[in-house]
Amino acid sequence: MSTYRCPGCDYTYDESKGAPREGFPAGTGWSEIPDDWTCPDCAVREKVDFEPARVH
Ligand SMILES: [Zn+2]
Repeated sequence: MSTYRCPGCDYTYDESKGAPREGFPAGTGWSEIPDDWTCPDCAVREKVDFEPARVH
């Protein structure tokens, strides 16, 4: 499972956790997120702007 980070506000999307408030249950892969999905925190950045992130 991977994590992706918004470059604008540091919101992170964790595939293992999903984004239930966005309608994506835990385990939803990044590839399943619509390309026009916008960051739920800043609403400025879109999926294509997100960067792979590593959480230790
Ligand atoms: Zn953001």
